[in-house]
Amino acid sequence: MSQHILTAVAWPYANGPRHIGHVSGFGVPSDIFSRYQRMAGNKVLMVSGTDEHGTPIQVQADKEGVSAKELADRYNRVIAEDLTGLGLAYDLFTRTTTKNHYAVTQEIFKGLYDNGYIFPQTTMGAISPSTGRTLPDRYIEGTCPICGYDGARGDQCDNCGNQLDPIQLINPVSRINGETPVFAETEHFMLDLPAFAEVLGSYLQSKQGEWRPNVLKFALNLLGDLQPRAISRDLDWGVPIPLDGWRDQPNKRLYVWFDAVIGYLSASIEWARRSGDPDAWRQWWQNPDARGYYFMGKDNIVFHAEIWPAMLFGYSGRGDRGGTPGSLGALDAPSEVVSSEFLTMEGRKFSSSRQIVIYVRDFLERYDADALRYYIAVAGPENQDTDFTWQEFVNRNNGELVAAWGNLVNRSISMAAKNFGAVPEAGDLTDADRALLERSRNTFGPVGAELGRSRFKNAITEAFDVVREANKYLAEQEPWKLKSDPERQKSILHVALQVVDDAKTMLTPFLPSSSNKVHAMLGGEGVWSGMPEIHEVDEDGGAPYPVITGDYDGAARWEHQPIKPGTPLAPPVPLFKKLDPKVVDEELARLAD
Ligand SMILES: [Zn+2]
Repeated sequence: MSQHILTAVAWPYANGPRHIGHVSGFGVPSDIFSRYQRMAGNKVLMVSGTDEHGTPIQVQADKEGVSAKELADRYNRVIAEDLTGLGLAYDLFTRTTTKNHYAVTQEIFKGLYDNGYIFPQTTMGAISPSTGRTLPDRYIEGTCPICGYDGARGDQCDNCGNQLDPIQLINPVSRINGETPVFAETEHFMLDLPAFAEVLGSYLQSKQGEWRPNVLKFALNLLGDLQPRAISRDLDWGVPIPLDGWRDQPNKRLYVWFDAVIGYLSASIEWARRSGDPDAWRQWWQNPDARGYYFMGKDNIVFHAEIWPAMLFGYSGRGDRGGTPGSLGALDAPSEVVSSEFLTMEGRKFSSSRQIVIYVRDFLERYDADALRYYIAVAGPENQDTDFTWQEFVNRNNGELVAAWGNLVNRSISMAAKNFGAVPEAGDLTDADRALLERSRNTFGPVGAELGRSRFKNAITEAFDVVREANKYLAEQEPWKLKSDPERQKSILHVALQVVDDAKTMLTPFLPSSSNKVHAMLGGEGVWSGMPEIHEVDEDGGAPYPVITGDYDGAARWEHQPIKPGTPLAPPVPLFKKLDPKVVDEELARLAD
């Protein structure tokens, strides 16, 4: 039965290019999942975009002497190009600075406000005396009042781990220019999270056994200490507050986290409008049979397992104060929050400032997208923090992609193409032939089950076991020695090509570009698995901006398909680049620069 699947992918922050640590946490896993779901016959809507508001963008724009919008424009495009280069098949990858996003964000605010889940509060805010602007918590540094550590930030002390308010810091200074902030009363809006404790509790309890245990445990632990959370800031870069007396205040904006999580909904609505059916998004958001999967790094669990569900409940009139759904109607909360752990780089944390980093575009200039996708699937931070090393990358590329999979494809197809020009017919099958065919066909079920539960490491490992067994089969059968027995040679190559075809299908979610090549080499026609494209769009004739979208209704289906004898074979092209072992030293030298 076909199901509606929303793949909601974390929104990259538009203050710089993305590095491979970012895309291993949210980008590649969500694409593997979505490609599998489409192949399994489900109706997938995969949405995301760049998160473009907030103080860090404003601060960096000031430093570069450009406007926040100019900085966001620049990195929105860079990030869209990076994600397209990785083959991430978004139905829509947009941005948070669209009119549509502003309107949807304000609608959610109003719905929550009307239902009584947002209230104003006077707090003490830190102000930079030289600019008059609010200093966000993390841009204030001082001595921790609890442990005496002198590098504590306004939101937290990294030494003792305690949460702090900037006003508690001893000798607070601005990290931007070293000046001493002044504290002044300021009025803000708060989201009343404690009013959702009960509804969130039963929501989370119902996910036992479904979510990754670390995610659920983390979310359940947070329940005991829900506090009202500020959803506005003193800032001029963000979505205006849609209330009389607030709307036109230049220095009051919704907090960036509040508008960013609403992006999943606003992007779905934008996608529907661009698809020509403005109500089409409702099939993924207001449908008891639909499922919504949210992909992110573990630092974002609180927003997706707690705060975003609370916002959706509140807008829908569910919470301690009840209420009625806003004008969009009641909205579905996430079915599953799929969080990854962190990737480190050669034993160290990624750090752009210390050059411990490799940006996606630099990676793609030197290596194939599928090589990185493979590494992330088989050795990425799915269940635990994981270290990326160049040595392991080269080993896996050369030993697994080139020597195992690439070699199986190459020798099977080239031998069959050279000797027969087409897929050969199989004669009588031996036990070994039948065993391998059966093994391959029977692997679709277990690999699909792992993919449906976002267990990517298990899934690709099982699919690769078939590749290894096929290589073993060829080594034992030695079809290259059977010139005098062409009938047996045909049978062996038929079996090998069938397994290559099966493996190509099972590897498609992980390795879409190279699977498309194998599809063509095996004489397949048309598009196998669709690839994303950048389109330039606008709103009501305004300034154009790039979005990622694509037509992903290719021929790929999650099933064994019998190959047809007589199908002409194309001479094989190398699937993957073999890497010179010296690239390890070259890359390590780049890191040390
Ligand atoms: Zn401390």
